[in-house]
Amino acid sequence: MSDNTLQLIWLRRDLRSRDNTALYQASQNGPVICIWFSFPGQWQEHNDSPNKLWFWLENIKVLEKNLSVLNIPLLTRNLNRFADAPEALLQVAKELGCQNLWFNDEYGINEQRRDDAVEQAFQQQGFNCHRFTDDVLIKPGQLLNKQGQPFKVFTPFRKALYRDLTPEQHQPYPAPAKQKPLKGQLSSDPLPDIQPTLSETNLWPAGEKAAHQQLKAFIQDKSESYKDDRDFPARPGTSMLSSYLTTGVLSVRQCFSAARQANSGELDTGNAGLTTWMSELIWREFYRHILVCFPKVCMSKAFQPETDQIPWKQDTDLLTAWQEGRTGVPIVDAAMRQLVATGWMHNRLRMVVAMYLSKDLRLDWRLGESFFMKHLVDGDIASNNGGWQWAASTGTDAAPYFRMFNPVSQSEKFDPDGDFLRQWLPELRELDNKSIHNPNAGNSLFTDESLYPSPLVDHSKARAATLEAFKKIKKQN
Ligand code: FAD
Repeated sequence: MSDNTLQLIWLRRDLRSRDNTALYQASQNGPVICIWFSFPGQWQEHNDSPNKLWFWLENIKVLEKNLSVLNIPLLTRNLNRFADAPEALLQVAKELGCQNLWFNDEYGINEQRRDDAVEQAFQQQGFNCHRFTDDVLIKPGQLLNKQGQPFKVFTPFRKALYRDLTPEQHQPYPAPAKQKPLKGQLSSDPLPDIQPTLSETNLWPAGEKAAHQQLKAFIQDKSESYKDDRDFPARPGTSMLSSYLTTGVLSVRQCFSAARQANSGELDTGNAGLTTWMSELIWREFYRHILVCFPKVCMSKAFQPETDQIPWKQDTDLLTAWQEGRTGVPIVDAAMRQLVATGWMHNRLRMVVAMYLSKDLRLDWRLGESFFMKHLVDGDIASNNGGWQWAASTGTDAAPYFRMFNPVSQSEKFDPDGDFLRQWLPELRELDNKSIHNPNAGNSLFTDESLYPSPLVDHSKARAATLEAFKKIKKQN
């Protein structure tokens, strides 16, 4: 249906020129122009991480340059709230004489409402709106079990997805072709100035080039040993691509295709490192499907409603100690310091600190979820909520409530030489490899509490109390 008129593309969490479905499809119909909106009022209300927003903005700057090489302008405009989007977009479409708006779907509930309102406004005024599935391999809600219901358990979900997924389905699209320069003056608002709170900004180079280099290096050098290395936070064993996936600088298709190709086209068989890594990408997919099929999870509700009866605590002192890395449990404290300094935390440690907050301190898991969203560069409502509800045993396919990590055993198992602990807790650097995991234990040589606090709670007592709380509500329901 090429009409060769100017096509308007609304970019959001898809900050890339290559394998961008809306951008590519629009470019098949005529010259294109892109627009991106900031929503500071919305960001503030949702307590969004300045680290994530900063990374987003850095990527927009790079994308603007990359697109300009193709003579594709990227306009940036400042709005306040999502509700401002329909009118602003219609106005831009009218100014530019664009009959068609193109964008890729997002899955947060506010984002879906915003996008539906935009579509409706465009249709009412006789404009066309083209929406695409782009952030996932299969459209959420399409993959159903034999009873025609959405999957609630990961493994059958993955099996069903692998059964249906052809290589063509996740074949990345190319970048749009270079177009003729557009005539006329187009004005942009300056991008908001958002400073990150993390200190190690060099970990996050912006742009597609940096992201693809990292993907290539991971597939070539680390993916085959991923299964063995991925749980050890002192080893650089994971891809660290999550922030690129969250901002859409990389697409899940690009990652999945690269891994599948390296695994000779196989999904479930072949190299164990590659199959495990693909499976992790499917966890991301799973939580997006859960978010769309059970939107209550992003409205502060437990997936298993009876677990909302657990008397979760709201103790500010305990919460602050956890947030500041002062719990007296070195693996928890080192991980929390990693989060605040880098905007990222190793997956094994996300599980450990989330279980510690919800099961040892029995604080409301939503407090931890929101602290993560305030600091993560890769903060993603679906994966973060899924991870937190898994750890708190309130979610879909969650850890059974009676399975509780002992954080000290986790530390001994996954950081046996204490390398990760020494990196983040200089005060414990001199301790031997055994005492460093539990410095204030009776058998330790380390007794100076002014250097490092005693544990906030006794793990076995906390464990027993949490088990009791879960048993009680299980009995009642
Ligand atoms: P890799 O191990 O290289 O994995 C590759 C990609 O697969 C990741 O980049 C990510 O996109 C996806 N992935 C891996 N593990 C998971 C998982 N368990 N769930 C969903 N997707 C996964 N991930 C986020 O992207 N954003 C979040 O806000 C987030 N919050 C989390 C909160 C908790 C409590 C837990 C337990 C996990 C959370 N995760 C989140 C998942 C996971 O910890 C990160 O995706 C991972 O640590 C990112 O590092 P990586 O890119 O090196 O991952």
